[in-house]
Amino acid sequence: MGKRIGILGGTFNPVHVGHLRSALEVAEQLDLDELRLIPNARPPHREAPQVSAQDRLAMVEQAVAGVPLLTVDDRELKRDRPSYSIDTLESLRAELAVEDQLFLVLGWDAFCGLPTWHRWESLLDHCHILVLQRPDADSEAPQALRDVLAARSVSDPQALAGPSGQIAFVWQTPLAVSATQIRNLLASGKSVRFLVPDAVLAYINARGLYRAQN
Ligand code: ATP
Repeated sequence: MGKRIGILGGTFNPVHVGHLRSALEVAEQLDLDELRLIPNARPPHREAPQVSAQDRLAMVEQAVAGVPLLTVDDRELKRDRPSYSIDTLESLRAELAVEDQLFLVLGWDAFCGLPTWHRWESLLDHCHILVLQRPDADSEAPQALRDVLAARSVSDPQALAGPSGQIAFVWQTPLAVSATQIRNLLASGKSVRFLVPDAVLAYINARGLYRAQN
């Protein structure tokens, strides 16, 4: 039996309980060996002022410390420009055994945007896709995706077979938390306690991140 590895990419600017609960629930529901959080590189002009890629990475590391199922993979930050997901998947695949299963975890909105991704039709050569479905999802999948869904989806995520190639939906009760909301609260001098783990809060406070500049 191969390993079962989930991956969740994001800017994590900053990481919050919405990301972490989702990641942990998927990992437990799908009986994964590991779920890797992969912070994305951003073009330098899109970084929030005072918050570097190293800070975003450090916060994710603090958030998952002591949670054996959740790990951090910094490969996208080691490149000198933002990575395509297909490149990340190819680089992960090169390190795994052929029978290992890779599960790319995407929110419904991200999934609907898939046809705009570089070489998107090759993604399923490397991984299965787990779509986090929310009771409040309102957008419709574009036609290109509906065709792929018709050919590749299985109704039971537990039944995803082989190392790659299928799509399944995972239902979760979402926590209505976003990084945008957290940045806005901090910029207006409010507390984000209980929206991020205490260790992340301590890091934000120690470094004075996301506060309005004088
Ligand atoms: P921002 O508000 O800056 O756009 P975000 O909170 O949406 O950020 P990202 O880093 O862009 O966070 O998200 C990474 C991944 O986590 C995406 O797949 C996104 O769908 C998912 N995600 C974000 N917030 C939540 C949440 N509250 N519950 C479950 N998944 C989430």
